[in-house]
Amino acid sequence: MSKQFDVVVIGGGPGGYIAAIRAAQLGFQVACIDAWTNEKGGPAPGGTCTNVGCIPSKALLQSSEHFEQANHHFADHGITAKDVKMDVAKMVARKDAVVKQNNDGILYLFKKNKVSFFHGRGSFVKAVEGGYEVQVDGAVKESLTGKHIIVATGSNARTLPGAPFDEENILSNDGALRLGAVPKRLGLIGSGVIGLEMGSVWRRLGAEVTVLEGLPVFLGAVDEQIAKEAKKAFDKQGLQIQLGVKVGEIKTSRKGKDATVQVAYANAKGEEQLLEVDKLIVSIGRVPNTDGLNVEAVGLKLDDRGAIVVDADCKTNLPGVWAVGDVVRGPMLAHKAEEEGVAVAERIAGQHGHVNFNTIPWVIYTSPEIAWVGRTEQQLRADGVKYKAGTFPFLANGRARALGDTTGMVKFLADATTDEILGVHIVGPMASELISEAVVAMEFKASAEDIARICHAHPSLSEATKEAALAVDKRTLNF
Ligand SMILES: Cc1cc2nc3c(=O)[nH]c(=O)nc-3n(C[C@H](O)[C@H](O)[C@H](O)COP(=O)(O)OP(=O)(O)OC[C@H]3O[C@@H](n4cnc5c(N)ncnc54)[C@H](O)[C@@H]3O)c2cc1C
Repeated sequence: MSKQFDVVVIGGGPGGYIAAIRAAQLGFQVACIDAWTNEKGGPAPGGTCTNVGCIPSKALLQSSEHFEQANHHFADHGITAKDVKMDVAKMVARKDAVVKQNNDGILYLFKKNKVSFFHGRGSFVKAVEGGYEVQVDGAVKESLTGKHIIVATGSNARTLPGAPFDEENILSNDGALRLGAVPKRLGLIGSGVIGLEMGSVWRRLGAEVTVLEGLPVFLGAVDEQIAKEAKKAFDKQGLQIQLGVKVGEIKTSRKGKDATVQVAYANAKGEEQLLEVDKLIVSIGRVPNTDGLNVEAVGLKLDDRGAIVVDADCKTNLPGVWAVGDVVRGPMLAHKAEEEGVAVAERIAGQHGHVNFNTIPWVIYTSPEIAWVGRTEQQLRADGVKYKAGTFPFLANGRARALGDTTGMVKFLADATTDEILGVHIVGPMASELISEAVVAMEFKASAEDIARICHAHPSLSEATKEAALAVDKRTLNF
């Protein structure tokens, strides 16, 4: 006999688990099905974000940043750190413990909010009167019926034709997050967010990192001036980034017990090159995941990328079936998935769930960090918008000097007539935290002058934000 629910959520990543919790808080009977399994065969809800994405990458970035600081920057503070060593196994074990805390936290929240959790793979069976039947294939088979179904099945790493992931030598984000030792030579195909974060971790620990990027520009989605500044910093750190390359054949060959990977490619000038590395991370984007969902059984519509087709409210072509997160259009970001999850739960309850796509922040957690919200200067030019720009370098910020990290700047873009903030772009220390002020300001349709008139603590990095807002009108308090 099928178990009856108001809402059945398929997928327990940030889109799915947040939707399930919010729906339960709104008084619905909710089930959440998630297939992720930990090494012991138990449930590991949290999806890509918790298991092989946001959380573990930030844990490794933090460990490797400490290592880099101890090796290269403590001396500036008068601290002698001799024989600094990295125990990679311990670093990875710490990362795994952080992941587990998050998995357990989600299971606790399910319990607290009375969400029924099912560990297994969910698939559509058929439409039934007033809802849909979904089957769970786990340790036991279950049949659930939901009046509403929320699909939040996420995405998978895109493979490069001819170079499937073996997670030994050719790695996706999954393998890149659990290397047992620092590779001497690390290759990276793709210089997007995930590639740069992974490359930074292993470079800080001593790997020689070469990044091959097909596009002729570095970080094309980032404001040009900010991307240029970031590239300068990465070049200085020794990340070897080659743009405009065309990757050819990729071969793995075994030398004794150690394998190496050879990547044939043409550089930007069209010259044939061969890169030999010990490990290769392929990070060329992610594809929506509807594997095994049996969408055909109910006629759920996918687009030609394999994403579930939804409208602005995350409604699919089927009444009562919704989809959120990486499996639908829009940026593949955990907080975007979460916002959509909350909004869908509220819409099911007859409320007015709301997601503002114009104020979704983006962050790259490298060093320096890169963060932005709103439009870039090149987008404003392309859109024919008249704008004013103001920048302020961290070099002139007292807190940044005290921290010993003066790389980068804050940049404001505001409407030339109304002064409304159209975009804020940061490269530098704690950009991931600083960007929130800009998100709030844009959500409230603030002007650059509003930020310039708000009192910011001294000394703080956020004073650079205030100064960049002042710079929009060619003013400064700093000199
Ligand atoms: C290395 C890396 C770093 C990242 N860092 C960041 C970051 O710093 N900030 C950020 O915002 N984003 C980051 N992301 C992106 C972020 O992880 C995703 O945008 C986010 O996880 C998407 O959430 P989701 O709920 O849509 O899907 P997912 O997190 O992918 O979750 C989907 C879940 O559904 C389960 N599932 C799939 N099919 C079924 C089925 N049929 N039945 C049951 N369960 C199923 C999966 O097992 C999974 O648990 C990163 C990604 C990677 C790979």
